[in-house]
Amino acid sequence: MSCSKSTTTSIQQLGKRLLEWYEANGRHDLPWRQSQDPYHVYISEIMLQQTQVERVRNRYYPLFLNKFPTLSALAKASLDEVLAAWSGLGYYQRAKNLHKTAKLCPQGLPKSFEELKKLPGIGTYTAAAICSFAYNQSIAVVDTNIKRLLCRLFALPNPTPANLERLATQLLHPTRPKEHNLALMDLGALICTPKSPKCGECPLKAFCQADDPLLFGQNKSQKREKKTLHFGIYAQEGKLAMVRSTQKLYEGMLLFPPASPKSKPIATYRHSYTQYNLTISLHPLHAPPKNAVWIDVQRVQEYPLASLVTKGIELLRQKLVL
Ligand code: SF4
Repeated sequence: MSCSKSTTTSIQQLGKRLLEWYEANGRHDLPWRQSQDPYHVYISEIMLQQTQVERVRNRYYPLFLNKFPTLSALAKASLDEVLAAWSGLGYYQRAKNLHKTAKLCPQGLPKSFEELKKLPGIGTYTAAAICSFAYNQSIAVVDTNIKRLLCRLFALPNPTPANLERLATQLLHPTRPKEHNLALMDLGALICTPKSPKCGECPLKAFCQADDPLLFGQNKSQKREKKTLHFGIYAQEGKLAMVRSTQKLYEGMLLFPPASPKSKPIATYRHSYTQYNLTISLHPLHAPPKNAVWIDVQRVQEYPLASLVTKGIELLRQKLVL
């Protein structure tokens, strides 16, 4: 695997240009980059896995840290409190794994890459990110932005994760590995973007081997499946009956109880979730479910509710059903 486009270019030159670009253009103001606290880095990395930077920065990251300022505070919280703070972020397994990890090491995360990888929900990427961004260890980090950037830079149509990690390790700056990783990440997010890379502004253009960048590093787009779900609504005295989900996707969260599609719905709305485009129909129930968990509709933020539920409650409020 060649790392150079011509005999005059080198890994050192590439690293130098990358860091110069980063100093002037990097996202230095992201709150988790102002911190060396491994817990802060850990929370941000888990949130950012499936959620856009702006949503994490403006809402979920500060709220979560305000509620659980340390790993030990997270360990002492109930799972319901943690899921409630995660409500709306989706992929709730992430919150459950955070809680499990906090209980396993309430005094602090381990410093070793291998030890980190043994913790629930911490894979190769997250362990490398914690080692690099919190502990300043010399370790390459390969997230989706870096993966795309490397595929284009070296015109790799279909590299394995091991190939990419090897390549990223070869490129790693010998004395500034953390900034190098952050710089690659930012270059991928800001310049070498998935659909319209700004090659004219790219500091690595002279090294780039991709004649047509869109042929490299693209995730295959997944077609969303259409599905209709029918839920029941039973409210009394400002309280709404919910049930605790046992489905893998929402396990532990509170959902509307199931309902038969035969009755006329009170409200219908759409919701997209991972690979699904959902149509949700809410039907009146004549009795609460046997295993009802009652929630106060004025305090929905205190319960572990998925966004498909909070969206439905909002709609019912607008229709003055609640
Ligand atoms: S030149 Fe274009 S394709 Fe190549 S790394 Fe830069 S932005 Fe990406």
